[in-house]
Amino acid sequence: MIDFSLSDEQKRFLDLAREFSSKEIRPVALQYDRDGTYPESILKKARELGLMYTNIPCEYGGSGMTFVTHYLVTEALNYDCCAIGQMIGIAHLSTGAILLGGTEKQKKKFLGRMTESYRSACFCLTEPGAGSDAGAMNTSAQRKGDKYILNGSKCYITNGQHADLLCVFATSDRSLGTKGISCFVVPRDTPGIRVGRVEDKMGHRAMVVAELFFEGVELTKENLIGEEGQGFKLAMMALDRGRANITAICTAIGQKALDEATKWAKEREQFGQPIGSFQGVHFMLADMYALIMASRAMYLQVGWMLDRDIKCSIEAAAAKCFASDAAMKVTTDAVQILAGTGYMKGAVVEKLMRDAKLTQIFEGTNQINRIVSGRGVLTGKSLLF
Ligand SMILES: Cc1cc2nc3c(=O)[nH]c(=O)nc-3n(C[C@H](O)[C@H](O)[C@H](O)COP(=O)(O)OP(=O)(O)OC[C@H]3O[C@@H](n4cnc5c(N)ncnc54)[C@H](O)[C@@H]3O)c2cc1C
Repeated sequence: MIDFSLSDEQKRFLDLAREFSSKEIRPVALQYDRDGTYPESILKKARELGLMYTNIPCEYGGSGMTFVTHYLVTEALNYDCCAIGQMIGIAHLSTGAILLGGTEKQKKKFLGRMTESYRSACFCLTEPGAGSDAGAMNTSAQRKGDKYILNGSKCYITNGQHADLLCVFATSDRSLGTKGISCFVVPRDTPGIRVGRVEDKMGHRAMVVAELFFEGVELTKENLIGEEGQGFKLAMMALDRGRANITAICTAIGQKALDEATKWAKEREQFGQPIGSFQGVHFMLADMYALIMASRAMYLQVGWMLDRDIKCSIEAAAAKCFASDAAMKVTTDAVQILAGTGYMKGAVVEKLMRDAKLTQIFEGTNQINRIVSGRGVLTGKSLLF
């Protein structure tokens, strides 16, 4: 029943992604991190090679990979820099609701146009007053005849400054709570969209995060994804996929940290021998390896469930919590093994430790994800085993 062997096609995609990461991303990762550079030329190349819209079906211009293959490729693309890796793969979360709830005509039109460019999409849920409590959003979609008028603002939007396609959640009736929220697909060139502050961040520095304002943006039924009031449900379903994606990204961060620590443990000598010969260091490397193995197994399981259309909210939330806590621990231990050298700016493990922190915060903080999985465990509804 359980088979971890890869198909020839998966091996081919993985080789391509690993080569791309080592040739295109590794040489600039530290420099882009230092300067907070938008990785434009890398995004262009990734799109040309079919590494950008990996999970989008071929009929809409994507590479049509299964979820398992997409997550394997995601781990490979995030190995050398998860900020650049996430800019490449941002469409996975941001087109999730459109793929789930859009009509054939909407997918062909909006996703078809998006995949012609490298600027991809963004997922606009969070607002200044609505972070963990996303359902408390203020951005409104007022119906006027056959039009919807969008007003409000979103914050911390990954790729918000550049995305060609915006997936926006807005409420048409706050008194209905989450049931008043609808999902809209909005092309960037729609009048009334303004980019606000572009954030200066602790980590993920080559991943562009911005504030967005919607000022009388006129939309029609063609922009509405699913039914009115279905938006929050679509956002949560897209986040199940996104959380599996983060689990793969955390695995990449951890693997890179372990590889750096292992290399150093073999090279660095103290007390007349490599530090890797001390049992205290073996124990750290062993625990790091176990956490990475488990994180990888978790994203493969959730990907397997998604490929079979099995509901996986509990598993995706649990995997995201586990893998992000694991990435934080593994990167902290990697800095410990490199010690003074690892603590300095310009050390790969120093960057990895800063990058790991975000994975415990976005796509639902780990407190919120523990609420999702804890409540799920209590209902016992969709547990696989
Ligand atoms: C770099 C970055 C990129 C992002 N990209 C996007 C994006 O592309 N699109 C998007 O929509 N959003 C994005 N976000 C937003 C992100 O999802 C939110 O930051 C996150 O959901 C938390 O919201 P908040 O920051 O307002 O924290 P708050 O909700 O204010 O939480 C503060 C603290 O309170 C805790 N807390 C809150 N409620 C509870 C509770 N019920 N029980 C226990 N603890 C609780 C939280 O866990 C946290 O520790 C991004 C954020 C960052 C930092």
